[in-house]
Parts: sequence; structure tokens; C-alpha cells
Amino acid sequence: MEGRKELSPRAAADVVAAVLRPEIRALSAYAVAQAAGMIKLDAMENPFTLPASIRTNIASVVAEVPVNRYPDGGARAVKAALRTTLSLPDSLGLVLGNGSDELIQIITSAVAKPGATMLAPDPSFVMYRLNALYAGMRFVGVPLAADFALDAASMRAAIERERPALIFIAYPNNPTGNLFAADEIADILRMAPGLVVIDEAYYAFADASFLLRIAEFPNLVLLRTVSKIGMAGLRLGYAIAATEWTTELDKLRQPYNLNALTQAVAPLLLAAGELLAEQAATLKAERARLFAALAKLPGVEAFRTQTNFVLTRVPDAPRWFDGLRRAGILVKNLHGSHRLLDHCLRITVGTPAENDALIAALNKLC
Ligand code: PMP
Repeated sequence: MEGRKELSPRAAADVVAAVLRPEIRALSAYAVAQAAGMIKLDAMENPFTLPASIRTNIASVVAEVPVNRYPDGGARAVKAALRTTLSLPDSLGLVLGNGSDELIQIITSAVAKPGATMLAPDPSFVMYRLNALYAGMRFVGVPLAADFALDAASMRAAIERERPALIFIAYPNNPTGNLFAADEIADILRMAPGLVVIDEAYYAFADASFLLRIAEFPNLVLLRTVSKIGMAGLRLGYAIAATEWTTELDKLRQPYNLNALTQAVAPLLLAAGELLAEQAATLKAERARLFAALAKLPGVEAFRTQTNFVLTRVPDAPRWFDGLRRAGILVKNLHGSHRLLDHCLRITVGTPAENDALIAALNKLC
């Protein structure tokens, strides 16, 4: 047999340059930090492992999954579990995604007519802007006020000026952690000419939700994920809306987007509602403790949060980020990502022991 021929890298680069959309070439791929062996406070995961009884249960359920077959394209068991957990009425439909990230992509591509605009408060979740770019939509960011509240007047003006096909509102917001005023969001829903997505990724840690108000607004899709409540590794997000929306959005879903293992395990964890609620309650108590400890540090400003992270402004974010990393703690450095986020770190609430380690390391850095 002949040896493998070497591909000329030049030739591939020439084709890429000729064929690829320039805005894609200009991107760098989303960087996921290496965290092996570190206290991981960078990605808003639930830090608690599962009790042995649930793990054993998962093992026996997974052992029976016929992985030689495609999964259920309709993911009926997961949908049924979600419907029960959320007490959803039949008038509301569900679309499931491989993480809510996938649903952001599906929703965006569904409305991305040539020339269409996506609008979102800024700073907010970076995937909104990125998905606008993927889908060839124009993105308009409306700056938040200095205290990270929604600038309602600017939002209204931008909606009238831009007539966006799609508005994303993270409720509570990432990376700032705060919850925008509900009446301002309701105003946006009433005046928006297009679809409004309220992204409640952090609902488990927040005092308010639009879940019970979906039927009030014909242009509202509510987005949620199980990632922050203890199942980030399963990759499961869901959109809830009038069935008129979900029937259409379902057409953009790849036929088997939820893998068989996720479909087998998710209902089991969703049924463990009490455990998940207890973990969320512990995290909220830890959040209060962490917030108080951060606010006491000289030169440090901690921002009020309704999520499982605390946005924190420190005197020198790059130095503090490195100092924490040397102490074995990984957080997210937001310095340089937006002018409102100068010298800000985003710190996920961890276990009590992890938070103690973080507080000790921060005290040393002061
Ligand atoms: N929306 C918001 C506001 C988020 O912060 C995140 C995760 N960082 C997501 C959606 C995506 O979550 P997932 O894809 O894990 O469901």
C-alpha cells in the first residue's frame, strides 16, 4: 500500500480564505479554560456531586440504554418529566435543545431573514451576539446603566429605531447577575415588533420568573436550562412558548439532538426535585455569605446578584485572576470584555469549603 500523502497546509489555507465567510475567519473559537485539579468557580456549575443512591440508579438506567439505536427523536420521556415538574398546560409547547445554547441557535436561525436585526442589553450573555453573527443577523447591543439596570428609555428608543426581529433578555442577566425590572420587560414585550426571548438560565436562584406569564405575551419564548441546577454535563435546555411557536422552532431541530443517555438520565434527576431545591437553597445561603465576605475586602466591590455567581470588581483583575489561579482557583476574568466590566471577575458560588478557600485566597491577595 502506498504511504499517506502529505496535505499542503498552504493549499488548505487558500481554499479557506477563498470560501469562508470573512466574519467567521475573524472569530476565535470559544475558549473553555483548562480546569483539571482546580477549584472550578468559572462556569456557574452546581458544585455538589450526587448522592450514592441516585448514582446507583443512574448506573442501572444507563446500563439498559440501547445505544445501538437512535434516541427517541421526540424525547418524550424528558418532555413528560419537564411538563410534570413545571405543571405546564397543554396550550404551551416545549422544544428541547442540546443545552440552551442550541436553542439560542435554533431561535436565531428561525428569524434570520436577510437584513433582520437581533437586539439585546449589553453586556449580556455572549452567545446571543455570536449566534447573530453565525446566522448573518445584525446585532445591536443596548448599553446597560452603570449599575447594570436596564436603560429602559434607550431600550425603547432602540426598539423603535431598529425594529428588531429578535430580542434576547437574560433574566437574571449574565455576567452582571442582577434581575431587570419585570415591568420594564413587560413593556418591551408589548412594544417589540418581533420575538422576545426571556432567558431564565438562572431561574433557580432568582426571586422572579415569567413562567406563569407566558400566555400574556404572544411574542414570548421562555428559555431555561438544567445546567445550573446540577446537570451541566447532560446538555439539556428547553424553550417554552405557545404551541404556534414551538411547532415551528421544532422544524429547525436536528432529528436526534438529545442523545439517548441524556434522555435516560434527565427524567431521573428531574424527579429528584427536593434534592435539587435543597442544593439551590444551600447555594443561595452560600451566595449571601460569599457576598458579605467579598464586600468586606478593601478595594473590592461585589454586585447584588440573583444567580449562582457574584460579579466582583477588584483593584487589578488580571493580577487577582492570576493570584487565584496560582492558589488553585479558577474564576472568570471579564476585564477587557466590556467597558462596564473593567476589573471585574465573575465568581461562581461553590461548596462551603470551596468558598472558604476562595475567601482565604482573596484575603491574601489584598
Ligand atoms: N443562557 C445564559 C444566560 C447563560 O448564562 C448560559 C450558560 N452560561 C446559557 C444560556 C447556556 O446554558 P446551557 O447551554 O448550558 O444550557
